[in-house]
Amino acid sequence: MASNGYRNGNKGAIKPLSASSNVRSSSFKSRLPPSSNHSSGSALRRTSSTGAGGDAVPGRVRVAVRLRPRNAEESIADADFADCVELQPELKRLKLRKNNWESETYEFDEVLTEFASQKRVYEVVAKPVVESVLDGYNGTVMAYGQTGTGKTFTLGKLGEEDTSARGIMVRSMEEILANVSPEIDSVSVSYLQLYMETIQDLLDPANDNISIVEDPRTGDVSLPGATHVEIRDEQSFLEILKLGEAHRIAANTKLNTESSRSHAILMVHIKRSVLGEKVSIPIETDKSSHFVKPPKPLVRKSKLVLVDLAGSERVQKSGSEGHMLEEAKSINLSLSALGKCINALAENSAHVPIRDSKLTRLLRDSFGGTARTSLIVTIGPSPRHRGETASTILFGQRAMKVENMLKIKEEFDYKSLSRRLEIQLDKLIAENERQQKAFDDEVERINLEAQNRVSEAERNFTDALEKERLKCQMEYMESVKMLEEKMIENQRKHGWDGFRKDKCNGEGPGSSNAEDIAEVKKLLEKETHMRKEAEKEVIKLKSQLGQGTEAGAGVDAEILKLQIALEDEVLQKRKLEEEIVILRSQMLQLTFEADQMRRCLSRGGPGNAYTGLDSPMSQVSDNGHKTPVSSLFDQAVGVQKVLELLESEDANVRIHAVKVVANLAAEEANQERIVEAGGLTSLLMLLRSYEDEVVRRVAAGAIANLAMNEANQELIMLQGGISLLSITASDAEDPQTLRMVAGAIANLCGNDKLQATLRSEGGIKALLGMVRCGHPDVLSQVARGIANFAKCESRASTNGIRSGRSLLIDEGALPWIVQNANNDAAPIRRHIELALCHLAQHEVNAKDMINGGALWELVRITRDCSREDIRSLSRQTLNSSLVFRAEMRRLRIEL
Ligand code: ADP
Ligand code: MG
Repeated sequence: MASNGYRNGNKGAIKPLSASSNVRSSSFKSRLPPSSNHSSGSALRRTSSTGAGGDAVPGRVRVAVRLRPRNAEESIADADFADCVELQPELKRLKLRKNNWESETYEFDEVLTEFASQKRVYEVVAKPVVESVLDGYNGTVMAYGQTGTGKTFTLGKLGEEDTSARGIMVRSMEEILANVSPEIDSVSVSYLQLYMETIQDLLDPANDNISIVEDPRTGDVSLPGATHVEIRDEQSFLEILKLGEAHRIAANTKLNTESSRSHAILMVHIKRSVLGEKVSIPIETDKSSHFVKPPKPLVRKSKLVLVDLAGSERVQKSGSEGHMLEEAKSINLSLSALGKCINALAENSAHVPIRDSKLTRLLRDSFGGTARTSLIVTIGPSPRHRGETASTILFGQRAMKVENMLKIKEEFDYKSLSRRLEIQLDKLIAENERQQKAFDDEVERINLEAQNRVSEAERNFTDALEKERLKCQMEYMESVKMLEEKMIENQRKHGWDGFRKDKCNGEGPGSSNAEDIAEVKKLLEKETHMRKEAEKEVIKLKSQLGQGTEAGAGVDAEILKLQIALEDEVLQKRKLEEEIVILRSQMLQLTFEADQMRRCLSRGGPGNAYTGLDSPMSQVSDNGHKTPVSSLFDQAVGVQKVLELLESEDANVRIHAVKVVANLAAEEANQERIVEAGGLTSLLMLLRSYEDEVVRRVAAGAIANLAMNEANQELIMLQGGISLLSITASDAEDPQTLRMVAGAIANLCGNDKLQATLRSEGGIKALLGMVRCGHPDVLSQVARGIANFAKCESRASTNGIRSGRSLLIDEGALPWIVQNANNDAAPIRRHIELALCHLAQHEVNAKDMINGGALWELVRITRDCSREDIRSLSRQTLNSSLVFRAEMRRLRIEL
């Protein structure tokens, strides 16, 4: 009923239409907005899609008239009279009888006869309004009429016993609930009573003076004081209606009034969330592509107002029911104000007295506002109430002229939009933070890694340099110190000319110690020079490192350079180390030889550099501790290093190395280590690749020393050592080489397990072959070998492990044995004497021995041998042999 609302275009007084002219002149149908017919819902939906603040559409107030059937009382009282109205529902016309021959015809939007079902009434009167409300428009359904004509029946009937009797309120709610989504939409109701300009809360009777609040901006009215009850299902709504009705009766009793005097107003508030349309916006730079804006979240807050007005008869008959005039005026104030407003609106009057009553204020949007409004005017058939019926009809007619401008109650759902945007923003912020963090971490990690790499390279480099420098310094100082000590000692003890290598190792005249030491000195000088060079290099690299660190950038390239330099340095270092080892081994060799020499001299005879043959423990001092030379060697060089030098490219180095190995091998304590480190194999290799007599001699000596150990003996055999030794035995001319080879084979001969192999691989032949040399040292070793072999054989025969003639006899050793049995050299003689005794212990050899002349030798031994034990052994052996005894008898020899 806004005074600035759209008005009905029809002006002037309302006239009842004559049957013909009314129909013709009635043009309201053509003036109806699309929303005013039954399919209006969809039209409104189309309109609503224009979004918040979309254009309003005209929507005239629709008015239906409903005739109540005669009630019992009327059926009797008016039995003789016709109804005061005659309905033509198909023409939507109503004829109000003036008298028997005259009537006035009125046209309505709907004419509902006394037979109209509640369902139909709902569908034609309320349903379009409910649909509009669901679409976001405000809506009003109001019942107007005389008391007892069916307003409450039409609107408020609960129809619990008979569902077909349900009124508009229940059916509307049913429709609403069927169309909203409980998750996103909300439906709530308030139920109020307006009586004597006081608004009471029917859901909370104590709340009996609710004030109306108008939004100055939109003009919307609201009742913030009213109870709002959320509706989830029809049953709860029915309970609310019943509760409201009960409170209404109680309140009216208290006020001593009837419900027909008060207006009942049910307000249904609907809030629905919808999404607006996507908006496609062409992009400035490229007209062919479009940016599609996401749909806006919208909220529709619409309101359905169902008004069961007080009886309209009061308008005319105020004060007629015992109230004081003022009171009666007050009771009817709202209704008369409503009539006045509707008149003003219908007549397009400049002033619409909305503010005259609370009802008109409350219904401000329903008449002349933005709501879709349906009015149902109820009439009774009784001619006795013709006046009331006529005034009701005229009220309806005037209301039909009220034009509203339907406007969707839609607004941006700022809350939801802001919530959504906030969530989205938070997500983006979180994602951004994650990415930023990951990026920072990555940068930090790369930085750290780079720093670590740089500092590690620096550290490694500095460490390596420092270590290298210290090590070189130490080594250098030690070498010098040791050499000086040795030189002083040698000078002090023997003088420079006293020691000649050839005396020690039987090599014949050769270079002197002095020469060797001079050579060592030269090497040392060279080493010193190289050390200085290395130190210079270290300083240079250090300064480079300093520069590199300062430079900061381009670190990688610098590191690469430094690495190359470091590698060079390592190579240089390796070379230096090799030099040092060589120098040391040379020095040791000299020391060792000097030692030997000293020992020979103190014993008063020539010594053997590599004699492990007769006195294998020659390098071990009496108390069993390592000699200073050996431990010095351990500290200074190490077995592995020397063995590596055996394969050095430098022949000199090889010779020195093999000498050192041989000396070490003379010590039992070292033998195991040498073999473990692969020394035996290396030595055998040297024999095989014969190139230098000295190397071969010394290697053979070393092998001989190693061959003192039983485990090594087997290893030598396994590695084909016997055949190598045999080849050397037949090739070599040098008596010392032969002595070493013979010594080695002699040692092997002392191993019980190797007897057969020794013979089969030519070991015995090789041994005997070496007697060609005639050197007493060689012969001594041959004799020892034969004695060892004979002893093992004899032991095996005694133990029954072997039988048959001695292999020595098989191999033709007997003549040489007999021949040398009385050799001038004591060691030869003694070995052969023992060998003869062992051979004689077995009868199987006796015949051959007798034939070979061995008996004579054995007899001689029993008489001449300087050793008592051998003398008695030979006597015992001869006596216990039947063959020897018989022969001795035959030759008349007596022991
Ligand atoms: P109001 O609310 O206008 O005073 P009510 O709705 O109370 O009138 O109706 C008065 C009586 O008439 C009630 O008993 C009701 O049941 C009955 N009535 C009203 N309209 C109809 C109708 N269309 N059909 C049958 N009975 C009706
Ligand atoms: Mg009523």
